[in-house]
Amino acid sequence: MSRYQHNSSVKLSSMIKPFYISKKKGSEPAVSEAVLPPRESMDFDAVIVGGGPAGLAAAIRLKQLNPDLSVVIIEKGAALGAHILSGAVIDPCGLDLLLPDWREDKEAPLKTKVAADRYYLLSDRRAMRLPNFILPPLMSNRGNFVGSLGNVVRYLGGKAEALGVDIFPGFAGAELLYGERGEVLGVATGDMGIARDGSLKSGFTRGIELRGKYTLIAEGARGSLAKELIARFGLDKNCEPQKFGIGLKELWRVDPSLHRPGLVQHSFGWPLGNDTGGGSFLYHFEDALVAVGFVVHLNYTNPALSPFDEFQRFKTHPSVAPLLKGAERLCFGARAITEGGFQSVPKLAFPGGALIGCAAGFVNVPRIKGTHNAILSGMLVAEHLAAALNEGRAHDELRDYEAAWRQSAIGRDLKKVRNVKPLWSKYGTLGGILLGGLDMWANEIFRASPFGTLPHGKADYACLEPLSEAAPVTYPMPDGKLTFDRLSSVYVSNTNHDEDQPCHLHLKDPAIPLAQNLPVYGEPARLYCPAGVYEVVYENEAERRGPRFVINPQNCVHCKTCDIKDPAQNINWVPPEGGGGPNYLDM
Ligand SMILES: Cc1cc2nc3c(=O)[nH]c(=O)nc-3n(C[C@H](O)[C@H](O)[C@H](O)COP(=O)(O)OP(=O)(O)OC[C@H]3O[C@@H](n4cnc5c(N)ncnc54)[C@H](O)[C@@H]3O)c2cc1C
Ligand code: SF4
Repeated sequence: MSRYQHNSSVKLSSMIKPFYISKKKGSEPAVSEAVLPPRESMDFDAVIVGGGPAGLAAAIRLKQLNPDLSVVIIEKGAALGAHILSGAVIDPCGLDLLLPDWREDKEAPLKTKVAADRYYLLSDRRAMRLPNFILPPLMSNRGNFVGSLGNVVRYLGGKAEALGVDIFPGFAGAELLYGERGEVLGVATGDMGIARDGSLKSGFTRGIELRGKYTLIAEGARGSLAKELIARFGLDKNCEPQKFGIGLKELWRVDPSLHRPGLVQHSFGWPLGNDTGGGSFLYHFEDALVAVGFVVHLNYTNPALSPFDEFQRFKTHPSVAPLLKGAERLCFGARAITEGGFQSVPKLAFPGGALIGCAAGFVNVPRIKGTHNAILSGMLVAEHLAAALNEGRAHDELRDYEAAWRQSAIGRDLKKVRNVKPLWSKYGTLGGILLGGLDMWANEIFRASPFGTLPHGKADYACLEPLSEAAPVTYPMPDGKLTFDRLSSVYVSNTNHDEDQPCHLHLKDPAIPLAQNLPVYGEPARLYCPAGVYEVVYENEAERRGPRFVINPQNCVHCKTCDIKDPAQNINWVPPEGGGGPNYLDM
């Protein structure tokens, strides 16, 4: 079986069986703590939630600094890399500092150097190439590598294990543990073997408490524990709202005669209108592989827009379609990406731990790069954490990490580009890119911006206009060769969840989808969810009578878009049973 053949035991039919939510408020089944056996606990110096580049870099650096430290990582994917989705063109500055010899390593996961770097503005028929000399130097990809972040993560995992880090894939951090003073003491993994109705199944296993002197949250964009911590400690009270995009990606194997290893292309414009931010990427790497991706900024206003279908449409552009003709789609996935940048980074340290990587929002938006900062932030926090342990401290705030990041390479990287996203949001794609480009040049030459630091304004969930005021949008039917529907896409993401478990998409008020979201916005979850998890089905389809809101949680690819974009902020994404979700290969 090739690594891209899809596990035949995962039947599409089993993935699309709907989960009907009950009408009762707060209805998700819960098992009373009183009936459960107590959890076992384990003690560590550092507990890390999330086995992405940030979490793994933190673990590796901690062990490099002091091999005697006990460090554990939990990862909700069934294996390291299973839930990792990125471009990826990677700036190696983080890897170079973390593992200085990685380039000489035969096992090194990044083999393709960027060979050509092109930016295009698309209209529906044409592609206008922007000359590279007008782009600020920081936009250049020279010296960067193209590859799969999933493979980078697997490589880092091997290095971490060799240093003695305990890595537990298949375990989701489900609950934060707090001490008497409100400090974070660690995290509990989720219980396994609870049925959909809340009863305990025969294989029920209690979660484990992982107690750490410090707990690092490395969950990536819109982490569920990070969300709780940000709210509980008011970490975002002095910053702009975090902004997000949804990134959709397919991995293709193309005709070798059309493959240009190291070619990196980005585009703006079509199929998105001028008032919707986003763009595409096409990265050629390794053995005839091309990463084809599309990002839509989640501050879009039209509730009839479907990021998934915009992506499908993008592939039909005359400058793209010939590359994919006769080619094979190997994998599909989607993931939120943070876009708020410098002014949206919350307070990072809380009593007992800190946020790192994309949980902190360290993506450089115009460069579409966050991996280098994820690694650098893991290293930075590790240095302050190791120093704190050395002083005999525990469960307090890592204030020095908080103070250090803005002066570090991460702060310098983000500060230079801080106005690009707000300018794009305010002036649309054409005006925004022009002004953003000038602003980046000003930062390059004068080390200052004529705009100061611009605010982002509203959070993404508050940006939708009512459906009655929006332009209608229709999308062509997929052809199954170049363009696809959601369910066949979920199939090639290798997504699998045990169906008999509580729904992990909690509605704070189950009435809102039909009472509020449907009449005002046409229930946009049907369209922004790339995996067909949310549906409105009618008793009488022709007369649109008797609507029911249906959730298919087993299709969820863990992109977190619903948690971000629901206009009523009514959807709370929590991790399903550990090991469930996509199983991305080479993404
Ligand atoms: C479409 C797209 C394209 C991108 N392109 C690029 C690019 O070309 N170059 C680049 O440098 N960056 C790119 N990025 C950004 C880059 O992927 C991120 O900056 C980077 O992955 C952040 O690393 P992280 O470790 O913070 O989080 P992640 O990589 O998201 O890793 C977080 C990990 O934590 C796990 N996790 C989450 N919650 C829990 C929990 N509660 N319990 C246990 N485990 C949990 C997740 O399963 C995941 O494995 C892109 C992002 C997207 C979405
Ligand atoms: S349910 Fe939410 S997190 Fe899951 S795929 Fe849909 S939008 Fe993404």
